[in-house]
Amino acid sequence: MTDLEKRSDRSPVPADWTYAPAPESTDIVHLQERYGLYVGGEWLETKEHFTTISPRDESPLAEVAQASEADVQNAVAAAREAFGSWSKLPGSERAKYLFRIARILAERSREFAVLESLNGGKPIKESRDVDLPLAAAHFFYYAGWADKLEYAFPNRSPKPLGVAGQIIPWNFPLLMLAWKIAPALAAGNTVVLKPAETTPLTALLFCDVVRQAELPPGVVNIVTGDGSAGAALVESEVDKIAFTGSTEVGKAIQRRLAGTGTKLTLELGGKAANIVFDDCALDQAVEGIVNGIYFNQGHVCCAGSRLFVQESIYEPVVEKLKKRMTTLRVGDPLDKNTDVGAINSRMQLEKIEELVAAGKEEGAEIYQPPCRLPEKGYWFAPTVFTNVAQSYRIAQEEIFGPVLSVLTFRTPDEAVEKANNTPYGLSAGVWTEKGSRILWMAQRLRAGVVWANTFNRFDPTSPFGGYKESGFGREGGLHGMEPYLDFE
Ligand code: NDP
Repeated sequence: MTDLEKRSDRSPVPADWTYAPAPESTDIVHLQERYGLYVGGEWLETKEHFTTISPRDESPLAEVAQASEADVQNAVAAAREAFGSWSKLPGSERAKYLFRIARILAERSREFAVLESLNGGKPIKESRDVDLPLAAAHFFYYAGWADKLEYAFPNRSPKPLGVAGQIIPWNFPLLMLAWKIAPALAAGNTVVLKPAETTPLTALLFCDVVRQAELPPGVVNIVTGDGSAGAALVESEVDKIAFTGSTEVGKAIQRRLAGTGTKLTLELGGKAANIVFDDCALDQAVEGIVNGIYFNQGHVCCAGSRLFVQESIYEPVVEKLKKRMTTLRVGDPLDKNTDVGAINSRMQLEKIEELVAAGKEEGAEIYQPPCRLPEKGYWFAPTVFTNVAQSYRIAQEEIFGPVLSVLTFRTPDEAVEKANNTPYGLSAGVWTEKGSRILWMAQRLRAGVVWANTFNRFDPTSPFGGYKESGFGREGGLHGMEPYLDFE
C-alpha cells in the first residue's frame, strides 16, 4: 500500500459533495413599504401602485409607483430644467459626481447585491461578483472621460444632446442602469430612466446613492411602471432614447421615432453561437459552455444558446457537459453556493416552458440533470437539447432561459454559415488553440462581440452591441459615449 493510499484510508472522505446551506443575510436591506417616483430630487406620489415580488418564493417586497403619462412628462421637464446648469458644469466637476457615485456603489455593494438577488432571482455570487463590481466600474470609467471629451473626439466639438430617456430590462437591472446613466451624465446630459416592471428596487435604491452623492436635483430621474410608462417616455420630449429589451418592443420604438429627429440606440435580443473546434482545450471549453448559457439562468441577451461542436469531438463534449451539469446547484438565489437561481417572472417561466415543449415536439432530445427544485417560486432546471435541426424553434428563437441547443459542424466554413443563420447578431464564442483561426472566424461572424476561448466577459472599456435584429449603437468604451453627444 502506498503512503497516499494509507492516508486516504484513515481520512474521512465525504461520500458525496453536498453543500450545507449558506444563506446570505437580508438584514442589510431596508425596504420601504411603498415607493414613489424619483423626480427633481424628490419622491413624488402617484395614484396607482403595483406590488413587486421576489421570484424565489413569490413573496411581496414593496409597493412601487405606476407612472402615468403626465408623471413621465413631469420627469422629463425636471430633467430639462436640470440640463441647463448640468451641461454647463466643467467636465472635471461632472467627473467628481460620477467618481462619488462609483465609490458609494462600491461601499454599499453588499446591500445592492442582496437586493438585486431578492428582486430579480439571480444567484448572490453573480450579483456580488459580477453585477456590482461592473456597475461601479462603469461609473469609474466614464468619470474618467467627462473632462476629456475634446481629446476623445478631436476637432469634432462634442456637445451633450439634452435629456436622455432610458428604458432597461430585468436581467441586469443595476448594471443596465450603470451602462445607460454613466455615459449620459459624463457627456453632460440629464436622464429619465424607466426600470423593468419586475425589477425596480435597485434603481430605486440608486436614488439614495444619487442623494448621497449630492447630485443636483433633476439630473437623474427614475420613473417606475409597466410598459405603458416606457411607451410614454418614448412619446415624450426627450432628445434620445436608449432601449435595452426585446426585439419586438425595439422595433415598435424604432417605428415610432422614425423621422422625429430623436436619437435612438437599441440593444435587443440574441441567439449566440458558441463554436467549439476539435483542437480546443476541452475542459476549459465545457466551463465556457456552462458559463455561456447557465449564467444568470440564461437571462442574458448574449447567452451562448446555440452550441456548435465540431463533429469529431461531439461525443466527449456532450458527455463532459452533461457530467458538469449534474454539479450545478439550482436553488435559493441568496445561498452563496447557488449556481442557477430563480427565473425572473412567471411570464418568463411560461415562455421557457413553451419553447422547451416545442423543442421536444419537433424531435430534439432533452437532458436535464437530476435536481430538486424549490416548491415555491419560479424555477427551471438547466437543460440541454441534442439532435437539434437548425430550423427548430429552439435553434431560432431567443429562449432567454437555461436552455442550450447543441448542433454540429465539420469545417470552419460550415460553422460560420450555421452561426450566421439567425436574424440576430449580438455575440459569438470561438474555442480553438489557433490564433489564426480565431481571427479568421471573427472576421466572418456577424456578431457585435466575438469572444475567443472565453464567454460572457464584460469590461467598461469594451464596446458592446449588435448587428441585424440585435439592434444598433454601442454601449461601453468611447463608442458608448458617442450616442450621447452631438458633433458640429
Ligand atoms: P420588453 O422589451 O417588453 O421589456 C424591456 C423594457 O421595455 C422594460 O422596461 C419594459 O417595461 C419596457 N417596455 C415594454 N413595452 C414597452 C413599450 N411599448 N414601449 C417602451 N417600453 C416598453 O421585454 P420583456 O421583459 O417583455 O421580455 C420579453 C422577451 O424579451 C424575453 O423573453 C427575452 O427574450 C427578451 N429580452 C431581451 C433582453 C435583452 O437584453 N436583449 C432583455 C429583456 C428581455 P416592463 O418591464 O414594465 O414591461
